[in-house]
Amino acid sequence: MRIAMIGTGYVGLVSGACFADFGHQVTCVDKDEGKIASLRRGEIPIFEPGLDALVDSNVKARRLDFTTELKAPVAEADAVFIAVGTPSRRGDGHADLSYVYAAAREIAGALAGFTVVVTKSTVPVGTGDEVERIIREVNPSADAVVASNPEFLREGAAIRDFKFPDRIVIGTLDERGRKVLSDIYRPLSLNQGPLMFTQRRTAELIKYAANAFLATKITFINEIADLSEKVGADVQEVARGIGLDNRIGSKFLHAGPGFGGSCFPKDTRALVKTAQDHDVQLRIVEAVLGVNDNRKRAMARKVATAVGNSLRGKTIAVLGLTFKPDTDDMREAPSIPLVTGLLDMGAKVRAHDPAGMEQAKKELPDIEYFDDPYACVNGADAMVLVTEWVQYRALDLDRLKATLARPVVVDLRNIYRAEDMAAHGFVYESVGRASEPKV
Ligand code: NAD
Repeated sequence: MRIAMIGTGYVGLVSGACFADFGHQVTCVDKDEGKIASLRRGEIPIFEPGLDALVDSNVKARRLDFTTELKAPVAEADAVFIAVGTPSRRGDGHADLSYVYAAAREIAGALAGFTVVVTKSTVPVGTGDEVERIIREVNPSADAVVASNPEFLREGAAIRDFKFPDRIVIGTLDERGRKVLSDIYRPLSLNQGPLMFTQRRTAELIKYAANAFLATKITFINEIADLSEKVGADVQEVARGIGLDNRIGSKFLHAGPGFGGSCFPKDTRALVKTAQDHDVQLRIVEAVLGVNDNRKRAMARKVATAVGNSLRGKTIAVLGLTFKPDTDDMREAPSIPLVTGLLDMGAKVRAHDPAGMEQAKKELPDIEYFDDPYACVNGADAMVLVTEWVQYRALDLDRLKATLARPVVVDLRNIYRAEDMAAHGFVYESVGRASEPKV
């Protein structure tokens, strides 16, 4: 199959490289000339484990190439995937579909022969209808089917998620469209990746419902964490105790500083907006958004409490800036409101992140960056663990204690055990666990 991937970001590049690895002929298109130039030089513009080797081997096998010119790859393609960004629209929080519609217009003008145009971007219900309308308007004679194929990969585990998906959702009632997409995903039937066919609008809603549900699960356990702290329970044990129930499941029950990232915040906001546009109130999802926003802001106050309430003149070392480990993505990372809150309260902030510092400098220009975690904490009044990178999971506690000016650790990911930290003489605060182990 010949595939044109429009948009070569986290989703487009991973999907394009994986499709090429299945044996398809893939051209990744992006408007960003710098991105395409670096890909052509063999440089990967994002941090995603395993992606450099996957891209390299498929480029060498001549199954994968990169261009800024959309016309030729679209004309030759059996399927054109739209994988451009759908960020939150300024002002009302709805999904900004301008990139999707602009891509649809360009694609429409270049179509030749039967083509399936597939929205892989996360788009609100009804976007496929509008993409179809645009194509008919721009190119009335085009022989095209518009399908929805939402992407569920997680940054940091994107290649594995793409190659071993829990499910592949294909939204189109058109038989020719279903056939092309079945052929494209056929290599995954070996991995038993179940293909689910449904209507386009249903497929679009599945993606938002999935993200809203996961965001709800995280927010639920975060609120239970707050209660655990007050009543002297351990939220991790609570999570384990409920997660072992198959009806609940153990994933997405890790208490922390609130969800962030490139998807959950914007997708939950967009789902609420879609519901409002249809006179439906999604009160649970609305509450999730409110609780999560408050939580992210509350984390700076938690740090202030740990250092004796006043942050003025104190130096705080932040370890981990990206919204999760194994990515350089800083979009809506909880570290941003945390650091901003610390600065607002008069602290000096220094930070380390294994992969996200270049991105972070754009969001957080007023802090000091260090290439090494121990150099970062040197002389600080407290260390705050924000992202659970593997590099932070076994820090040398004696060295840490000797390096910090004051032995205060705020662990927002519950990496360490309160007993160990107490034995090393730290003042240790975590999430949803009493500072002192109780009975
Ligand atoms: P991204 O911002 O990393 O990449 C989007 C790319 O599209 C950019 O490189 C941009 O230059 C390019 N682009 C925009 N308009 C274009 C056009 N007309 N022609 C060619 N290129 C164009 O975004 P992303 O994180 O890859 O997300 C893409 C979509 O996938 C979003 O809808 C997102 O919600 C969804 N999604 C993302 C993830 C994730 O983990 N990042 C997971 C599942 C779904």
